[in-house]
Amino acid sequence: MKELQDKIINEGIVLNEEVLKVDSFLNHQVDPMLMMSIGQEFARRFENQAIDKVLTLESSGIAPALMTALYLKAPLLFARKQKSLTLTDNLYVETVYSFTKQQTSDVTVSRKFLSPGEKVLIIDDFLAHGEAAFGMARIVEAAGAEVVGMGIVIEKSFQDGYRKLQEAGYRVESLARIASLSIERIEFAEQNIP
Ligand code: 5GP
Repeated sequence: MKELQDKIINEGIVLNEEVLKVDSFLNHQVDPMLMMSIGQEFARRFENQAIDKVLTLESSGIAPALMTALYLKAPLLFARKQKSLTLTDNLYVETVYSFTKQQTSDVTVSRKFLSPGEKVLIIDDFLAHGEAAFGMARIVEAAGAEVVGMGIVIEKSFQDGYRKLQEAGYRVESLARIASLSIERIEFAEQNIP
């Protein structure tokens, strides 16, 4: 997606060769016009899937996922990150490791909001090693619902998340695919740019 690539080039900050900071439009301040384009584009890519629900992870997934849910006319459900849990009776819980934060957190969704047979689209802001995406997929599957696809705003193609998700049989659509990161240059992977 050209508009997103331009935004990454103009405003992205390369923290190191593994981590990109995009807090001027996605991870702290949010650009609503860009989120609208992102939502439209995900909705277009998954329009033939009869999606019942969009699932993301708080907090940075919420803005693009909400816009996607709006265009798909489906509810948005966001999984919560919690440090430690005592009462888990009414929750689906998965443990997710964050390489960027170097910590593990419990990701939860209320059993009330996922039902067997529902078709769920997973959206996230970044794809690195696939931990967050796999965690959300395990929650959907524990509920007896189905993951119809994953929409990623920024995929770091030089990390192994995309390959692992593909090998597990998930359809992954990424709007920007970064081939490499360095202080001097952000290189994108080949893709069709609409
Ligand atoms: P994964 O679970 O695929 O290893 O990493 C994806 C999650 O980690 C995303 O939900 C995102 O919050 C965070 N993340 C991974 N890499 C980056 C990055 O380069 N920049 C930012 N801002 N977040 C990242």
